[in-house]
Formats: sequence, C-alpha cells, structure tokens
Amino acid sequence: MHRPPSLKTIEIFASVQGEGLRQGEPTIFVRLAGCNLRCSFCDTKYAWERGRVQTVAEVIQQVRSLWRGFPARWICLTGGEPLRQSIAPLIRELQKHGLAVQVETNGTFAPRPAADWYTVSPKPPAYAFHASFRKKAKEVKLVVSRALTTDVVRGVRRSFPATVPVLLQPQSNARWSMAKAMKLLEEAVRLGLINIRVSVQLHKIYQVK
Ligand code: SF4
Repeated sequence: MHRPPSLKTIEIFASVQGEGLRQGEPTIFVRLAGCNLRCSFCDTKYAWERGRVQTVAEVIQQVRSLWRGFPARWICLTGGEPLRQSIAPLIRELQKHGLAVQVETNGTFAPRPAADWYTVSPKPPAYAFHASFRKKAKEVKLVVSRALTTDVVRGVRRSFPATVPVLLQPQSNARWSMAKAMKLLEEAVRLGLINIRVSVQLHKIYQVK
C-alpha cells in the first residue's frame, strides 16, 4: 500500500526570524526532529529527540491553521537538521501554497530540495559542509563558540562567493561571545576579508520563541 510522505517534527509555531539576513521577518517555523551533530552549545537540544510522526498533509494543515491568524510569507524549516529527512514533498507543497521556504542547515547533507533560501551554519570541530552549498547558500552563519578561530572564519569566507554574507552570531547573545565576535570581525577586516558581519539572536532579546 502506498504510504503518504511523512516527517518527524518537534514543533510548528509562528514567530519572527531571529537570526541571519531575514532577521525580524514574520515567519512560521517547522522544527524537524533529529540531528547528526551534537554541538555542546546547541540551544535546541530538545530537537535531538525522536519527534512526532506527521504526514506532510498534517504539517501543511497545521501551517495553514497558524497562517490564517499570522499570514507570514516565509516558512522556515529548522531543527535539529532538516536535511536528514525527506523534506522535498513538504517544500513543494508549501511553495504550491504560495509560501517561500527557508531551510536552516548545518550543511553536512546535500541540498537536494529546491528551497527558496538556504542558511548554512557549519559547526565545529570540522566546520564541514557539502560543496554544493557554495552555490546554493544565501547566507552563512558561524556561531561564535569557544572553538571559532580567525582561521576558520577565513577558510569559510574563502569557500563561498564574496556576495554571500558570513555572519558571526554570538553564542546565545553571551557577553564573552559578543566581545569575541567583535574581535574576530576586526581581525577579518585587517586581513582584507569582505562581507563578514556581526549578528545577534533577535528572538532572545524579544523573548519570543
Ligand atoms: S547542528 Fe544545530 S541542531 Fe545540531 S547539534 Fe549543532 S547546533 Fe544543535
């Protein structure tokens, strides 16, 4: 018997995008379950769990019901690591409904589905990412953890086209991390690296999800 496409989800909610270039934009989030990495600074460890099995139709229904009260143009598929699951049918359905789809990924899986916006956030210790993100990423986010160094920033900057911004995002807006982000930015400027910016997690300042 043909089984409808399904996904493991953690939560679906309406908020604003707190990170990256789309910061501040109304967005409906679909948080998918599971991650292949185990970053010590992860602020969504609860998404490492198994999640709830939902068909794509059920996810769409939930998104639509939120959308009626909060008609955001953007949907963000996040996690965990969304590309661990087969998200192509969900992306297609969302786009059929006229919605733009952002995918937030650690970059370790190939970006096969045609999302409208890929945010790639390579993680320590390897800071590895699939080569095709070089063309597909709209932005690159680096969490300013204890592990982040100027060499990593330089390597990542040189791996992506100069038109793709590299954002230095302080770890949970911590003061030490903000100070480190500024230092890394100053070093990047001195090294002649372009399109690197300091950032912040806006949703934590506004105290929204
Ligand atoms: S890649 Fe992201 S979701 Fe996965 S453990 Fe690291 S910070 Fe958490």
